[in-house]
Amino acid sequence: MGDVATTTAIDDDHGECGAVHGVYSRAELEALGLDAREIRRMVAAGELEIVRRGWYATPAHDDRVHAAVKAGGVLSCVSALRRYGFWLPPGYPEDHRRITRNAKADSGCRGFSPLAAGRVGVDPVVIALECAARCMREEDWIAVCDSVLNTWNVSAEELRGRMGHLPRYVVAMFGKTDVNSQSGTESIARVRLRALHFSVVVQPQIAEVGRTDLRIGRILIECDSRQHHTSLESYQNDRTRDRKAVVGRWITLRLTYDDILFGWDEVVEDIRAITAKDRHRHRPVVKYGTESESTHNPAQINEWWQANPDYGIALHVGRSGAIAFDLDRDDLAELPRDMAEALRLGVFQSSRCGISNRAHYVFANGGTEMNALASMSAEASAENVVTLLG
Ligand SMILES: [Zn+2]
Repeated sequence: MGDVATTTAIDDDHGECGAVHGVYSRAELEALGLDAREIRRMVAAGELEIVRRGWYATPAHDDRVHAAVKAGGVLSCVSALRRYGFWLPPGYPEDHRRITRNAKADSGCRGFSPLAAGRVGVDPVVIALECAARCMREEDWIAVCDSVLNTWNVSAEELRGRMGHLPRYVVAMFGKTDVNSQSGTESIARVRLRALHFSVVVQPQIAEVGRTDLRIGRILIECDSRQHHTSLESYQNDRTRDRKAVVGRWITLRLTYDDILFGWDEVVEDIRAITAKDRHRHRPVVKYGTESESTHNPAQINEWWQANPDYGIALHVGRSGAIAFDLDRDDLAELPRDMAEALRLGVFQSSRCGISNRAHYVFANGGTEMNALASMSAEASAENVVTLLG
């Protein structure tokens, strides 16, 4: 049922009809079976009011829609998106109307190419969103767009395809949207953090914790919205997740609506402080010299990486079955010819940025080669040229 509703939402986007807000176009009334005579009778009886030519309202109409139609247009843009219940940031208190009475609309909100005249009192979502790209700040529009994408479960490309030709900056804004965003505050935080060049993962699945809103390195960011997280169930759930996050050695930042919308500078300062400290903390997961702690057990590796996704990989020669030779000369030609040729067959890991042959030469130990290589190594070690590692 839910699937059916969400997959067809974009096709059902025809605007909000008079039955919802009490303001009807003549075409809507006719579609309801009212002819000109019946409409005249209803107007005379006070059951319908003429708002402007071709538009009528019932006594219980919505004032904002009524005012927009009276002004020669329909309710659109930010105001329409608000009516549809999509997430909206604070700061857009005025009514947004798309004036369609005259061919040249020099006031009110508009799209980027000529849009059809309003047939119902509140514009369809796609038209409202196109207009809003002119009226809203970029990050706000991206957050609203995320809300539409997530609610409708459609891709940015599909939504964009329903609009006419768009200027490049709006196409770029579409490129910053994310259908997976779960709240407007999460969207705003993501857009701002990426603008600051943080590497942000959206809705990552964390082993100990479950799904979180955002992740930067080891920092899990939960973007609480005012409406949610206030129930007793959420209260308990949040605290359980925080505890589990500590077990997994994650850092949880629980940001409130006010943190994100009104205290952002301080939030960024704190994230910077944590990530700066993290950079100084890059160490191997096992201590140098205690190779016995290295592992190829997937569960253990998974655990370490969950604890710190930034851990690199070290190949434990010997234990892994690999062997490596450390060449301590700049040119392989200084070695006996057959040894030089043998080393050329290995995986070359330069220790001098590739400007010389000085490097680690890594081989898989297939058994028989081992003996040959080991004896070669003994020979080379005696000359202090090549060292067998591991
Ligand atoms: Zn507007």
